[in-house]
Amino acid sequence: MKALALDLGGSHAACGVVEDHRLVDCATFDTANACSLRAVLPRIAATFARLADGARWKDAGYSGLAVGLAALVDARTGSVLGTNGKYDDASQIDLHAWSRETFGLPLALENDARMALLGESYAGAAKGFRDVVMITLGTGIGGVAMIEGKLLRGAHSQAGCLGGHFPVILNGRPCNCGALGCAEAEASGWSLPQIVREWPGIAGSTLSRHNSVGFQQLFAEATAGDHIAMAIRDRCLAIWATLAVALVHAYDPELIILGGGVMQSAAAISPFIETYVQSHSWTPWGKVRVRAAELGNNAALLGAVPVLMANSRIADHLFIQRGDSSVTQDE
Ligand SMILES: [Zn+2]
Repeated sequence: MKALALDLGGSHAACGVVEDHRLVDCATFDTANACSLRAVLPRIAATFARLADGARWKDAGYSGLAVGLAALVDARTGSVLGTNGKYDDASQIDLHAWSRETFGLPLALENDARMALLGESYAGAAKGFRDVVMITLGTGIGGVAMIEGKLLRGAHSQAGCLGGHFPVILNGRPCNCGALGCAEAEASGWSLPQIVREWPGIAGSTLSRHNSVGFQQLFAEATAGDHIAMAIRDRCLAIWATLAVALVHAYDPELIILGGGVMQSAAAISPFIETYVQSHSWTPWGKVRVRAAELGNNAALLGAVPVLMANSRIADHLFIQRGDSSVTQDE
């Protein structure tokens, strides 16, 4: 299947052309300061036009456009259910009409983290596994679940995609979701600078020489032997490992995939979390494996084909339902 793929994360827009398991071409641009999705759409259209020199997509055999959006999304109806400060106008835009008018293609919508897990499942580290949790460690923390080969969705499409908001500390730091002590509030890109600023004795640490501390600086200073950097790094590892255990007990995976920008330091992260999970999870059937994601920033783009395939299944199924009211929807 040939498809267009669009990954609209918190800080970037990635436009890709995929053919089955292969990313044929892609281009990315920065959207860190973009609040309105409507304002970004023309640039997306122009980027896709450049990728294939303005090809007529439908005539060229493309099946559709799959969009992964950093928002709560109902893939079954193709609608945006909730946003959190990014692309807050998304629910007011008819993206399906935009795609038809711009590319002549049907559009399938999915949450970006779910689409990344579909990508890893289709063409990456989770290939061949049916029960998988993916944790994305970046500006925020994504945590999505696939059970028996299907993405977990739930009554309001929120099930299994808010793993970063599992509380790991009682009375912990306030999170942007309204809860306290979420994994994301205790060890993510957005919360790290404040954690570092407030750490006792930080003035004596090499971290205090950095204007803004991200995980790259934290891991580098810890590796260089700074004791406070080591302590903060170890606390973050413990938070992520605690979250991983919670997700194992919640979703019963056989595999945990770790993705996101923080995984540039994968060698320090994956073995620690795997050892912790295998020591602290109750899994009488065996040991949960922990692997680094293989597709990096392209995971969501490579989820395009499974997203579109699921979407056509949904369409077929709804068609059957209209013809036979006794058929129950299973997706
Ligand atoms: Zn939260």
